Amino acid sequence: MSIQTINPTTNKIIESFNEMTETQVHDAVEKASSAYESWKKTDYKVRAAVLHRVAGLLRDKKDVLAKMITLEMGKLLIQAEGEIKLSAEIFDYYANNAESFLADKILHPTHGQALIRHTPIGVLLGVEPWNFPFYQVARFAAPNIMIGNTILVKHASIVPQCGIAIEELFKEAGAPDGLYSNLLISGKRASALVADKRIKGVSLTGSEAAGASIALEAGKHLKKSVLELGGSDAFIVLDDADMDKTVEWAVVGRIDNNGQSCVASKRFIVMESVADIFLEKFKTKLSQLIVGDPMDASTQLGPMSSEAAAELIATQVQKSIDGGATILLGGKRVQREGAFMEPTIITNMQKDNPVYYEEFFGPVATFFRVKDEQAAIDLANDTPYGLGGSVFTQDIERGKRVADQIDTGMVFINHPTGTEADLPFGGIKRSGYGRELSALGIDEFVNKKLIRVSELSDPF
Ligand code: NAP
Repeated sequence: MSIQTINPTTNKIIESFNEMTETQVHDAVEKASSAYESWKKTDYKVRAAVLHRVAGLLRDKKDVLAKMITLEMGKLLIQAEGEIKLSAEIFDYYANNAESFLADKILHPTHGQALIRHTPIGVLLGVEPWNFPFYQVARFAAPNIMIGNTILVKHASIVPQCGIAIEELFKEAGAPDGLYSNLLISGKRASALVADKRIKGVSLTGSEAAGASIALEAGKHLKKSVLELGGSDAFIVLDDADMDKTVEWAVVGRIDNNGQSCVASKRFIVMESVADIFLEKFKTKLSQLIVGDPMDASTQLGPMSSEAAAELIATQVQKSIDGGATILLGGKRVQREGAFMEPTIITNMQKDNPVYYEEFFGPVATFFRVKDEQAAIDLANDTPYGLGGSVFTQDIERGKRVADQIDTGMVFINHPTGTEADLPFGGIKRSGYGRELSALGIDEFVNKKLIRVSELSDPF
């Protein structure tokens, strides 16, 4: 049984779920398709009311839902509560702003009149990851429901309870049958589903392999896709940075969500003159983290999401050592039950190391010292990924100059890459394409229909 809740703090199976049969999936798509026929005709106020009710329910049920997240994927309970709060904000944000984002855009052609009208395109499929089980769904579902599209979500197989809970929230919020449906199916079946004629677009957040599989199907069947994939964000420390605060953010940037965030700070690139002091402070802080049960309020670093994830990162660390890197801190699995990995710092990572270009999806930081600003920029850009990145400096103009030269979708100055409802999120290169959140996030699966009015004249 591949769809299971396994508590990563103990690696014990909590509950198993049957995959949906082909008939059940077919029925869910059919329901989404017929819901679309009426949902596309509703006005924005009706759509917004559903989303506001979902937001309200998220807030009312925050404690239960946050515990569910922590149980299934191991994030610290306080961070799970933060995720529920942020998800509610995203539903409210689109409920409040979609009508103005989607208002007619009047054009001024040389002759006659023209406007762009934003209309829905149909049933959409979202393939979502486990690392932010509510937030990831919110940022896909909220804008698209406001457009008038209907939603099918195939959630990650290790967070089935979260997936089911989101569908129930919509039901409880009075959403019409088929507006939002959860599909309990494997990833492979999600890719195959893209071919279904009733599905008009697909969005995936997850790994490059899964993204490529979805994009292949979407391309084959000429459907729009959005991909939010992995990242290897640089955390650049310039020589004028406030070192104490910078180190505190470096720790947060690396271990938030137990190190499993696409926009986590993964590569720490520090200018030579401050490298020793940064490294000493960073190592001290990481070594002092309290590792343990994520339900416990005193814990600062919980488990990885699964035993497989912990094994994968431990293997990557071992490969880095075999390839000539040095372990300054940690490097091994924590000696206790559960999917735990030690906070780790890798130094002496050279370009020919077999894992130099890999994403470390866990509490493992790679550290690089560079001779100057240009070397920091060059190293930051020496990655197949292009998601986020940060620059720490007391000179904001200098920070902006550096940010301008980083080839990613997002750069934050004096903060690790983050997310808010009203800021766009997305990457370039192998981190994917398309944007979610903000006004840009409502632009992906909408028909920008030109309506042209001409004076009736003689064609010849
Ligand atoms: P993953 O294996 O790709 O899983 C993500 C989703 O894709 C799951 O629902 C998964 O289903 C599904 N999936 C897996 N194989 C598939 C396939 N061949 N076809 C269609 N769907 C498939 O990702 P992960 O390893 O759990 O997540 C970590 C990765 O996601 C990291 O690289 C991380 O950086 C990235 N991520 C990116 C963002 C962003 O916004 N850019 C946000 C979060 C995470 P199953 O669970 O059933 O396999």
